[in-house]
Order: sequence, then C-alpha cells, then structure tokens
Amino acid sequence: MSQHPASPFDFAAAPALQQLHLDLYRRTGVEIWMLRLDAVHPLISGNKWYKLKYALRDVAGLRRVLTFGGAFSNHVHALAFAGHAMGIETIGVIRGEPAYALNPTLSDARAWGMQLEFVDRATYRNKDDSAYQLRLQRRFGDFRLIAEGGFGPLGLVGCREILGDLGAAADFDLICVAVGTGGTLAGLIASRPENSCLLGFPALKGGDFLYRDIAQLLVRSGVDDPGGWGLQLDGHCGGYARVSPLLSAFMAQFRRATGVALDPIYTAKMVLRFNQMVAAGEVAAGSRVLLIHTGGLQGLRGMEKTLYDQQHAYNGGLPL
Ligand SMILES: *Cc1c(COP(=O)(O)O)cnc(C)c1O
Repeated sequence: MSQHPASPFDFAAAPALQQLHLDLYRRTGVEIWMLRLDAVHPLISGNKWYKLKYALRDVAGLRRVLTFGGAFSNHVHALAFAGHAMGIETIGVIRGEPAYALNPTLSDARAWGMQLEFVDRATYRNKDDSAYQLRLQRRFGDFRLIAEGGFGPLGLVGCREILGDLGAAADFDLICVAVGTGGTLAGLIASRPENSCLLGFPALKGGDFLYRDIAQLLVRSGVDDPGGWGLQLDGHCGGYARVSPLLSAFMAQFRRATGVALDPIYTAKMVLRFNQMVAAGEVAAGSRVLLIHTGGLQGLRGMEKTLYDQQHAYNGGLPL
C-alpha cells in the first residue's frame, strides 16, 4: 500500500515577531515590528505558504494542478515544491521566452517536476478566459486551476491565519503589507484586529484597480468588508520588478542595520515607502506598527549583480 506523502502544510514554525531598531524609529518615537513570514517554511516562501495551504488541501486526491506566473514568480516556485512534496503533478504556464527555463526560479521548478509552458504576453492575458482554459485542459488533461499568485477564496482562508496566530500580540495601530494580486491583503482585511488599520503597498504602477479586485474577492469569500484599510499607490519605484539605485542601496543598508534581508520586488519597496512616511512625519509618535515580511527571497538569485551595481550608483540619503 502506498503512503500518502507528507504535506508541507501540516506543520510550520510560527512566524517570529521581531522589533526593528533603526535610528529613524528612535528619533521619531515609533515602535516598529516585523512579522517574519519569510522564515515559516524554507522553500514555500512567506505568504505563499498561507495562500497555498487550503488550495492544495482541497485538491488532495487530485492528480494535477495548473497555474500561471511570471518567470521569477515566487508563487510558481512555491507551488512546484509543494506539488513535488505532495505527489501532485504541476504545470506552470509562464509569461515569457523558453530561455527563462534556465533561471534559478524555473530551474528549481523543473527539478521538482513542474512542466513548463511558455506563452507570449497576448496569450497570457487570456489566463482567466474559459475557452483558453479549456484548450489547456485538452492539452494537459484534467487539472485543478490555481489562479495567478494563488488569488482566490481558498488563498484568503489561509491568509486569515497570518494575524490570527498572533493573538493578543496583534495590538498594532497600523499593519503594512506588500501587494501583488491583493489576495494576502484581503485575508488580513477579513481578520483585521478591531484597533488596527491596514495599509497595502502595491508593487506595480497604477494599482488602483486593486481596490475593486480586493472588494470582489471579499464578496466571493462571503466576507463583509470591515473597512479600515487602504492602498499606498506610489511605492512601486517605477513599476513592477523595476529596481533603482535608491531601492538597492536601501536594501543593503537595511540589512546591515537590522540583519533582515528583503526582496526587491515586494518587501523592500514596502519598507522603503513606509520609512519615507515615517521620515515625513506621517506616522504619529507613539504608534506601534507591524510590517509583514512576505518572503520572496528566492527571487534574489540572479539579481545580485544588478543590485550590487545599482547600490553603488547611489549617493543620496536613506530613510533609516
Ligand atoms: C506574492 C508576493 C506578494 C504579493 O502577495 P499578493 O497576495 O499577491 O498580494 C508579496 N510579497 C511577496 C514576497 C510575494 O512573493
């Protein structure tokens, strides 16, 4: 009799809560904590552990899942590993050229058995289209679809647990999180502690559509929007996956000052923009704030040289 492989979602270390000691925070009299989701699982990074937990529990007994993502996607990486660990076949429909198969993210995914299908941008845009999905079904056989980034009601159920597990420690005036699809923020909204406001920092430019996407996901999930949340739309540093000398220098100095590594796509942009708010006096003295580290450090591989070069091209001040 074959045994069902162990699920990587059965157990994880509770995320650590760590106070950040920066001169900026001391000077302005704010108390800043970081929730280290990046350390919850060594390979299913950060918020993706929560987003996939129920999406994959639900497919137990199913043979195959298919998802969509970019060539450096933390979601694709996490799903490939989870599928490998759980004995579920995975297919990744990737936006971009087949040459991306050699990058560190997709090399891992292939090593974990993920089948990759590369499509151009125009085709990728059909990802939510049922006719396109039917074509994929004919091609790959029956699969369970997991939306790009794990966005959906089951992802939201997992993300409710991020703050839930904090219990009484979740006594913050403000809770900040980086935003891609908005699925994680939606889960936080659904479990918002009464006295905490939530602020999402979209990693892409023109993120106001996220207000609608998040509201729709809450409705689909049967959650009444409790309010008390918003989006900081200008922290994208020029656009999705763009890195700047300022951002690169900030990442390096932040790591030196706190010991915490950030990723350039999501978490570094959030912390930089948040620190700019603190420096501008937009966060009241005496505030207790939680910054959620959503992980994504696998995406650093292959970017080190760019980050190093950019970091040394910066010689202005930094909000630290
Ligand atoms: C995927 C990801 C996000 C965005 O999460 P959404 O739920 O799509 O908004 C934020 N940070 C990191 C590190 C991620 O990998």
